[in-house]
Amino acid sequence: MMRLPGFRYRAPRTIDEAAAWLADEPATTMLVAGGTDLLPNMKRRQQTPTTLIGLRSVATLADISNGDGLSVGAGVTLSRLVNHPRVRAAYPGLYQAAAQVATPHLRNMGTIGGNLCLDTRCTYYDQNYEWRKSIDFCMKKDGATCWVATSSPKCLAVSSSDTAPMLQALGASVTLISAGGRRVVPVADFYANDGIHYLTKQPGEVMGTVSLPSAEGWRSSYWKLRRRGAFDFPVAAAAVAARLDGRRVDDVRIVLGAVASRPLAATKAEALLKGHPLDDEVIAMAAKTAAEIAKPMDNTDFELVWRKKMVHSLVTYALQEVRGDDMRERRRRIARQLL
Ligand SMILES: Cc1cc2nc3c(=O)[nH]c(=O)nc-3n(C[C@H](O)[C@H](O)[C@H](O)COP(=O)(O)OP(=O)(O)OC[C@H]3O[C@@H](n4cnc5c(N)ncnc54)[C@H](O)[C@@H]3O)c2cc1C
Ligand code: SF4
Repeated sequence: MMRLPGFRYRAPRTIDEAAAWLADEPATTMLVAGGTDLLPNMKRRQQTPTTLIGLRSVATLADISNGDGLSVGAGVTLSRLVNHPRVRAAYPGLYQAAAQVATPHLRNMGTIGGNLCLDTRCTYYDQNYEWRKSIDFCMKKDGATCWVATSSPKCLAVSSSDTAPMLQALGASVTLISAGGRRVVPVADFYANDGIHYLTKQPGEVMGTVSLPSAEGWRSSYWKLRRRGAFDFPVAAAAVAARLDGRRVDDVRIVLGAVASRPLAATKAEALLKGHPLDDEVIAMAAKTAAEIAKPMDNTDFELVWRKKMVHSLVTYALQEVRGDDMRERRRRIARQLL
């Protein structure tokens, strides 16, 4: 059995208190929300903070408020998000993404803030300490070499959050609070394509809220490839948000998940769609163009060439769904690996 190492635990009541404590020792302190990612990582000695700041007693982090859009506290659990009537009605892609994270138990604990800050994943990294030691570790933690691409100057671990690509496609932003002030960052700018430094968030910053713009006129859809339909991290994903005028595409965002160290915007594919009717031919062209930017590596489940091919299919399904096609049978099939 893997045990947690010793650590000091601090429980702030406000975000400002959490930010002030984080500023004391940012290099050795980490925030913990649901703990469903961080605590297993600590057991495997992948992340080794000596102080944890628990966010569960910060009441304001659990707020959800409706305005034109939706403001969701970073501490809102994925279960609450999924059960929020406005999310399902106005942001179906977010509902689909959050509902497919892990299992019901993990969604009861796991938060939207933790999901957005989820550590990147890799076959050579998500192992216990002894396993990692036996290969002399790797660049992401305790070692020098990247075993996925030995000449790579940077870590290529995979962005594996389900909600991150969808929130980027929906045009969401996050509020970051530190001892020095606060700033609002679009989700599109919250990530960097680097498996170690995958967030642009500074170590002293606490995520306060996730703000979604109005969904008026927008449709959205999220499709995910994973080995087990019941639960598994994504190994390829497509998030689409589109505003249609009849069948013509007024505006669209396509973001790929789990094929790089950050969610990837498929801007060339978006440009192909804008101003055109969402017919099969245009969808096929856009899906092909979107798949070209996917760079899956051999560091997660499934064969990488096939994952790249599946990106084409996932983008196709997401675009068909926002067009209004009935995709229920396709969803059932993909959940049962009947591809
Ligand atoms: C078996 C299993 C299956 C899983 N499957 C999936 C899956 O399919 N898809 C998926 O996306 N995830 C999956 N997860 C990962 C995880 O459960 C979720 O991503 C969850 O949403 C993480 O939220 P948390 O609150 O538990 O994060 P924590 O573990 O508490 O924190 C994760 C990270 O976020 C940081 N953090 C948390 N809150 C804040 C904040 N307010 N401000 C700044 N930083 C913050 C922490 O410091 C830490 O670095 C799985 C986990 C397990 C164990
Ligand atoms: S991509 Fe390379 S450096 Fe990054 S976790 Fe995997 S093996 Fe380590």
